[in-house]
Amino acid sequence: MRVVFMGAPGSGKGTQAQRLVAEHGVVQISTGDLLRAAVAAGSPLGQQAKVAMDAGSLVSDDIVLGMIRERLQAGDTDEGFILDGFPRNLEQAHGLQSLLDELKLPLDAVCLIDVDFDILMKRLTGRRTCSKTGKLLNVYFSSQEELDACAQAGGELIQRADDNEETIGNRLQVYRQQTEPLVEYYAGRGLLKTVDGEGDIEAVYARMEQALGV
Ligand code: AMP
Repeated sequence: MRVVFMGAPGSGKGTQAQRLVAEHGVVQISTGDLLRAAVAAGSPLGQQAKVAMDAGSLVSDDIVLGMIRERLQAGDTDEGFILDGFPRNLEQAHGLQSLLDELKLPLDAVCLIDVDFDILMKRLTGRRTCSKTGKLLNVYFSSQEELDACAQAGGELIQRADDNEETIGNRLQVYRQQTEPLVEYYAGRGLLKTVDGEGDIEAVYARMEQALGV
């Protein structure tokens, strides 16, 4: 299975991709995660990427395409891969097309996870990670017991650096202006599968498995 996951920030791409990885042995390739790792490592590439990430803008196409090329050649993608958060504009989509042609790894599908704007805002502004357990929580949607469990484990609820309201507004705008045109691009190639991304994680996952035929 070779799939691109598309969806606005907060649509649940990462969460759903992790489930598919656990159950179907595919590899998740998230450019956001790769970039955050580069920032944390303090590499020159990370330092360059950090400025754009902190502002909620896109990191340069050359950087992300280079990362994807390297990652796809790591030799662990025999069962397939999920590209999570990439491509994010037409330039990247064209770059991906050439790369996959070269590697002889055609895409099977592009899965769009569709979520209403107001829900995205709450998912993003409310998103927290427990510093102790690493569990992903949300101050609007998680139960009080789940939130309390983090404090009881001696942890704190940490907000991602780019999950503040200003950056979120910019990330959603970037999505609308630069990434959304890819919906038509992939629909025109007969690859697009749209999944309703609202409701609980299980329900969305079931719809996604059905859409992907796995
Ligand atoms: P994400 O975790 O996918 O929401 O990505 C976090 C941030 O990393 C984005 O707001 C961008 O600044 C950057 N980023 C992630 N993926 C890409 C990409 N494919 N192209 C450009 N920038 C990206």
